[in-house]
Amino acid sequence: MKNKRKIFLWILFLAVLIVIGVVLYYFQKGTVTKWNYDQLCQNASSITGQVSVKVTSNGVYVLEGYYTSAGKIYKFMAVLDEKDYYSFKGLGIADMMLGYEEGNTWKQLLVSLIPTVLIVVFYIWMFSSMMKGGGMGGNMFGNNKQRPRETKSDVKFKNVAGINEEKQELVEIVDYLKNPNKYAQMGARVPKGVLMEGPPGTGKTLLAKAVAGEANVAFFSMAGSEFEEMFVGLGASRVRDLFSDAKKAAPCIIFIDEIDAVGRKRNSSMGLGTSEQTLNQLLVEMDGFGTNSGVIVMAATNRVDVLDPALLRPGRFDRTIQISLPDIREREAILKLHANNKSVSPEIDWKRIAERTPGFSGAQLENVLNEAAILVVREKRKMITINDIDEAIDRVVGGPAKKSRAMTLKDKQIVSYHEAGHALIGLKLRSASKVQKVTIIPRGNAGGYTIMTPKDESNFSSKEDLHAAIAGYLGGRAAEEVIFGKDNITTGAHDDLDKATNISRKMVTQFGMSKLGLTKYLTMAEEAYGQTKGVYSDEVAYKIDQEISNMLDECYKIAIKIINENKELLELIAESLRVLETITAEQIDYINKNNKLPNEVILEKERKAKEDKKREAGEILEFEPDADEGDTKN
Ligand code: ADP
Ligand code: ZN
Repeated sequence: MKNKRKIFLWILFLAVLIVIGVVLYYFQKGTVTKWNYDQLCQNASSITGQVSVKVTSNGVYVLEGYYTSAGKIYKFMAVLDEKDYYSFKGLGIADMMLGYEEGNTWKQLLVSLIPTVLIVVFYIWMFSSMMKGGGMGGNMFGNNKQRPRETKSDVKFKNVAGINEEKQELVEIVDYLKNPNKYAQMGARVPKGVLMEGPPGTGKTLLAKAVAGEANVAFFSMAGSEFEEMFVGLGASRVRDLFSDAKKAAPCIIFIDEIDAVGRKRNSSMGLGTSEQTLNQLLVEMDGFGTNSGVIVMAATNRVDVLDPALLRPGRFDRTIQISLPDIREREAILKLHANNKSVSPEIDWKRIAERTPGFSGAQLENVLNEAAILVVREKRKMITINDIDEAIDRVVGGPAKKSRAMTLKDKQIVSYHEAGHALIGLKLRSASKVQKVTIIPRGNAGGYTIMTPKDESNFSSKEDLHAAIAGYLGGRAAEEVIFGKDNITTGAHDDLDKATNISRKMVTQFGMSKLGLTKYLTMAEEAYGQTKGVYSDEVAYKIDQEISNMLDECYKIAIKIINENKELLELIAESLRVLETITAEQIDYINKNNKLPNEVILEKERKAKEDKKREAGEILEFEPDADEGDTKN
């Protein structure tokens, strides 16, 4: 349907272009034979009728008229200077109309404008018929589908499992949508836009729907890619429509999925692209509605780094919520939630299945249960058993979701030490940042990640702070080297190296914190913008690289030293990570102070050990572990 319409529009567009082309061609042909003075005199006898003469301000005479040749009439034009003009006039051949005829110029201008006007009119007609729905051509395009979709959402927070902190952040927004006046009276500023960042299938859409459902307000949803179709300018007008509809329906939620499709960083070297106009319109709309208009924009992306920074300024998407892949407890909760409406064998231990599915998104977990249910239906059985789930997991892993491959136990081992390494440096290096949360759940292309915040609130960073930050980034690699040996280090550190190198380069070229002294050297971006002051010689470039490399080496040595001196602590953190997958600042503090595993880790280990025993005794029927999985215990 959509495609047919597109093809039709294109054919129409091409037809109009062809018509314009043909018209222009005949104009051209019928227009002018150009004569110089001599040709004019030679052909003077064939001239018929009047010859018009225009005198331009710089004394040039333009003659235009018609002449016959072989029985046909042609148009001619001759451009003469004053002397030639009077000599020609002296021949007395044609009765010439003398003078400066404005009318003629206008007529010509109009004629030459016709194609342009036609194109513009055509565009306007096409767009308005696509946008407005009614009117000429409206029905032909059947364009009601292009309106943003407004729905009521019956999703509630209880339908979203896990991600509790994230839900908490949205409670206030629900409250605002329920009583916007309360906030308006207090003069409180509620965020206009909430950006949710996280891998696909982690429940971003679900969460936005839940906010609308909890507040019982209208839910408008549109995907970033839907803004971009066919013609420049269309995306922008869709944005306009979306917001004007939403304002009428306020209070409400606008949900824009895949906002990165329109919100990419604007490219300064290129003109206004389609998506740039769309982005600009989005910015205008977000600035345009008042703080308390009751419209809240929620957007989802899996890459904040590609977004145009303008989107993240206050008054636009001023709140960002990070949603990561679910950890073991969250996976259990999601599994249980989706198992609720299915008949499952009471023997299934959801915790075990959560253990088996690290790296799975909420959508994949839901898919596992769905696949299992399909198996049961196909085989005309009554209940989902552990074997169905096992089979379904393999299907989901091996199926289209291969991208987010599940983590093997070996990966888990490596990542646990790597992340523990980061955490340990944060713990032991005085000026390093404080570790807030460590997880071995993969995100993007990182195996796991460690969230740190600065220990003091100062806006400045000292040389020592920066060295500590570099050592922190290198801590992951250092732990891998210490535990697995120099030859077994992995590619998992590449992002860390990138960040460490960046800091170091800045210290050398921007902050005057190295042997190279106080000179500020250009960054590549500045150079690209054509700035020349501060461009350096190859010799200096070499020195800069040397200096960076030395600094990284020094910091790496510090990291290795800390890891070596605190191996026991590293083991404890790594083990806790393998058991719980995510550990908090408190748990890390506990390990650091007491030099032993936190209680929850011990309990969890005992539970597992008991189960393993039962399994050996054949009391639990269990699926077979993957061949590539090694030994969990260490
Ligand atoms: P995203 O928008 O982040 O790509 P969705 O919100 O579309 O992901 O999630 C797809 C489906 O996965 C949801 O409809 C839901 O069934 C399931 N799902 C994902 N995360 C959760 C969660 N935290 N709790 C319950 N279900 C979830
Ligand atoms: Zn790392």
